[in-house]
Amino acid sequence: MDLGTYDYAVVGAGIVGAASALELCRRAPKARILLIEKEDAPARHQTGRNSGVVHTGAYYKPGSKKAQLCREGLLRTKHYCEAKGLKFETRGKLLVATNDQEKARLGNLANRASQNGVTVQDLSLTDLTSLEPNVAGCAAVRLPDTAIVDYSQIAGSLLEDFVANGGTFLPSTTLIGIDSRHGKTALITQRGMIGCEHLVVCGGLQSDRIIRMAGLACDVKVVPFRGEYYRLPERKSKVVKHLIYPVPDPKLPFLGIHLTPMIDCSITVGPNAIISLAREKYSKVSFNSADFREMALFAGFWRSLAKHPCTIANEIRSAASKRYYLKQVQKYCPKVELRDLCQYVAGHRAQIVHPDGRLEDDFLFRSQDRMTFVLNAPSPAATSAMPIAQEICERVLSR
Ligand SMILES: Cc1cc2nc3c(=O)[nH]c(=O)nc-3n(C[C@H](O)[C@H](O)[C@H](O)COP(=O)(O)OP(=O)(O)OC[C@H]3O[C@@H](n4cnc5c(N)ncnc54)[C@H](O)[C@@H]3O)c2cc1C
Repeated sequence: MDLGTYDYAVVGAGIVGAASALELCRRAPKARILLIEKEDAPARHQTGRNSGVVHTGAYYKPGSKKAQLCREGLLRTKHYCEAKGLKFETRGKLLVATNDQEKARLGNLANRASQNGVTVQDLSLTDLTSLEPNVAGCAAVRLPDTAIVDYSQIAGSLLEDFVANGGTFLPSTTLIGIDSRHGKTALITQRGMIGCEHLVVCGGLQSDRIIRMAGLACDVKVVPFRGEYYRLPERKSKVVKHLIYPVPDPKLPFLGIHLTPMIDCSITVGPNAIISLAREKYSKVSFNSADFREMALFAGFWRSLAKHPCTIANEIRSAASKRYYLKQVQKYCPKVELRDLCQYVAGHRAQIVHPDGRLEDDFLFRSQDRMTFVLNAPSPAATSAMPIAQEICERVLSR
């Protein structure tokens, strides 16, 4: 079946795809633009399964795309939510060190945050106790601009704007092949063929596979890092006011198990970071033999495990033992008890791993011929979705 021909086709209705499709509509108002999504609704994967935090850009290497686009993303997300009447709450984040090693790292992190133009407030221990009486540590800083939102809601709103601006959205449409041999790009989906002048792929956990589908060489792979959350019961929903984060290991792109007030007034605990054996299946025991085989045959996967054996062992322990998970939280919030950890959702981070085992630290985009790919867009890509969309459009429209 012929599903039509478009100037631009975008694959993936997570927040990055929805923002990119809308940005294309705004910049090329006469163009015919299509957004396809394999699920029956937007935001079913990373976008709908995250912490809902609008990051400030404190953690990222100065000059990196993450540092730059996250800072812009905070402002753009705030303005968009204000314009659309979507919930946006600036709660502020406390980063709490609980030993001398973390205290030294916290100092480095605070310097990095300042270099990135992020407001950082040093807190005395008296300040810490008066701001958060249930939180304990030996040093802390406050990032007052950190906010919370509902990214599924934002993605849904971007999609509505896209359709209102003349774009076409096709849910339940899976891209299964790409033929770009004859001067135009033909997308093969399970529902039929789509023609387009330029293809934009925002495929999240499938991004590496779609690049290969297009016949392009790609020596990196997505490794899905599962993040498991718990939710605190209502009686504990005021245990903290700020977002409370530990000091992360600077060698890894994960932020550690944190306490996050959510926009629905609950508080989540998590996420940890363990390798998942199925890219887009979310139960604890999910296993996809094709996903597993592909990962097991990739040397970069084994090399990445060899680089971080202790961290991996600790993360597996946090998945296997609720008591061990709790210990990570009690280091800075002793008030949380075992009976407070109520089951909640899990999400999978699409993390690019290089053949040498290095976890890609920055956002990665790739353009070739009439195709543009978002290859690595883990956290803070939800915060940064609007500036990422701008970058994508510049790449597309300059070709
Ligand atoms: C546990 C966790 C916590 C996080 N916390 C935060 C946070 O607090 N703040 C923050 O900024 N970021 C956070 N992130 C990261 C953030 O959620 C992601 O960076 C962001 O959602 C990426 O959006 P995306 O649109 O690229 O990917 P996704 O939301 O995964 O969307 C990709 C879409 O592509 C579709 N797709 C894939 N293949 C095909 C195909 N063949 N055909 C058609 N459609 C296809 C998928 O179905 C999916 O809908 C977190 C992520 C996780 C997992």
